[in-house]
Amino acid sequence: MKVRWGTRKYSFMIIPDADGRVIRFKIPRLVIYFILGLAIIVTSSAAALYTMHSRAMESNMRLKAELSGKSKQYIQTVTEKDQTIIELQSEVLDLKRQADEIKVKIDQLKKLESDIMGLSEGDGGRNNIGDLDSGTMAYGQKAKEKPVVIASFGGGNLNGLNGVGGGSSDEEDDADMEQIVSEAKSDFSLLDDEMQLLFDGLSAAKEKLLDEQELMRITPSLWPTVSWRVTSKFGYRKDPFTFRRSFHTGIDIAGNYNDPVFATADGKVQFAGWDRLRGNNIIINHSNGIRTWYMHLNKNLVKKGETVKKGDKIGRLGSTGRSTGPHLHYEVIKNGESIDPAPYMTQSRKDED
Ligand SMILES: [Zn+2]
Repeated sequence: MKVRWGTRKYSFMIIPDADGRVIRFKIPRLVIYFILGLAIIVTSSAAALYTMHSRAMESNMRLKAELSGKSKQYIQTVTEKDQTIIELQSEVLDLKRQADEIKVKIDQLKKLESDIMGLSEGDGGRNNIGDLDSGTMAYGQKAKEKPVVIASFGGGNLNGLNGVGGGSSDEEDDADMEQIVSEAKSDFSLLDDEMQLLFDGLSAAKEKLLDEQELMRITPSLWPTVSWRVTSKFGYRKDPFTFRRSFHTGIDIAGNYNDPVFATADGKVQFAGWDRLRGNNIIINHSNGIRTWYMHLNKNLVKKGETVKKGDKIGRLGSTGRSTGPHLHYEVIKNGESIDPAPYMTQSRKDED
């Protein structure tokens, strides 16, 4: 069957409501097909354009999101770094505060050192005291320099540090921090030096005190018995037996029979025995060229070779040997020679205080 595209037509009628005229017209089929085809092309083109547009929008959004994520990361990193800087600054300030506290403690220790030196006395240590004093002076001079450093550290740099958050440039901040850190380092290094000096000073003071303690232990100082009644001093006197002028080589203390007699310093019993003149008598060697001699005892309570401590009971007071009544003849011998014992009888026993 042969179709004649050009001639086939569709008829269209438009019928109004009431008695209007009916409009009738004819359109060739080809035109209809053409219009339909055009409509399909337009619709599909619009759909394709829309798809392309939304894809473009989507990728744009993705890019935007990506960029925003990255910038957020950067902001976070910068914030973290700021935080770190603030923490470091606070730590540096802490260190500075610690340095100040240590300085105060060192000052206290310096005071303590000088107090110890002041407390320390005795003839034996005089030369040492001189040496130590000069050492302390040098130390004191060095210490004087220090507060200046601390002051400059606490002054200018603190202001610099405060300015860090206030819009000064990064280079300035870095320079400030570097200066603060370098000064904190030098501060601590100075403190270290001072502590070493202090340690040396205190060690010397300790040595000196130990020496003095040892000297005090071995130097006769105690009153040798319980009675304080001196009947004859060291020096020339009239002899109670011959009534002639003679030299008395010790001190006589009258007391009661069996009163305790004490070692007047740490030492070793060199002699404990009896003879016709001195009766029961004891010699103690105190190892510093000094010996003490206790005579006319009623009884010796120690033996030769025994070690005794200052204040130990070594005998009982009596009247043995050449004696007119119960008394103790106490003698101090220095380098083989009897000397006046009075300067060595300055201390009462602890239990008498
Ligand atoms: Zn005598």
